[in-house]
Amino acid sequence: MPYLRDRAIVLRNEPFKEHDRKVVLFGIEHGLLEAVARGASRKEAKQAGHIVPMSEIEVLIAKGAVYDKLAVARLVEQHRAIRDRLGALAFVGSFFDLFERLQRPGIVDPGLYELLLDVLSIGESLPDEPSAERARLLWSAAALKLLDRIGLAPALSHCVSCRENVGESDAWMLPFDGTVACADCYRGLRTAHPNATCLAPTALTLLRFLRREPFGRVLLLTASTDVFAAASHAVSVTLQQAPLSKEPHGSETIFALLS
Ligand SMILES: [Zn+2]
Repeated sequence: MPYLRDRAIVLRNEPFKEHDRKVVLFGIEHGLLEAVARGASRKEAKQAGHIVPMSEIEVLIAKGAVYDKLAVARLVEQHRAIRDRLGALAFVGSFFDLFERLQRPGIVDPGLYELLLDVLSIGESLPDEPSAERARLLWSAAALKLLDRIGLAPALSHCVSCRENVGESDAWMLPFDGTVACADCYRGLRTAHPNATCLAPTALTLLRFLRREPFGRVLLLTASTDVFAAASHAVSVTLQQAPLSKEPHGSETIFALLS
């Protein structure tokens, strides 16, 4: 029976048949993986504690005709501090949900693995009770970095039509194609894009910051709640165009949990 070995992060884990669990992982060398952990739902199962979502593990997976089996799972880092705090759990959990929905089996990218590790690390360093707006902004930063990595991030620097730089005055984010138009050009595009989102210069600057800067700097950022909300909304709009298998829980879940 062929085996594959990898270091992976547990994205999801759910009951499968009577005593088993299905584990969804993202591996450095193999990308998205799915394997069944036999007997992991039994109380005495040794592996159960190693395949908890957000853990980083070393795995040996036996390739099967019907499904793959998790033969060995060895814990590298449990990231337990995240599961003990609601704010961190809401942020990391809803990002993992989005992450999985944007992956396809066979896409391998160590940069995406790094992004997951960064999200886990900032999740662990979050204050006990981040505001819903702060957690949503961090989530938006993570979503933008993810979209950037897979080539779906919106073009935020210049107008799609005249190619001039945008950001000095209001710009418009066009739904469906992830681009931005300057106010002048948008007058001619309004009929084709009646649902475009207006982005004030502050929101556009914030979006660029979220995309570019490490999470630690996003955590320290100060701006008005309205600017935070505008940037987060623009990310939600962008995600509506992404090829998602299902709509992610995303920022709405964070609001519901933390407001
Ligand atoms: Zn223009």
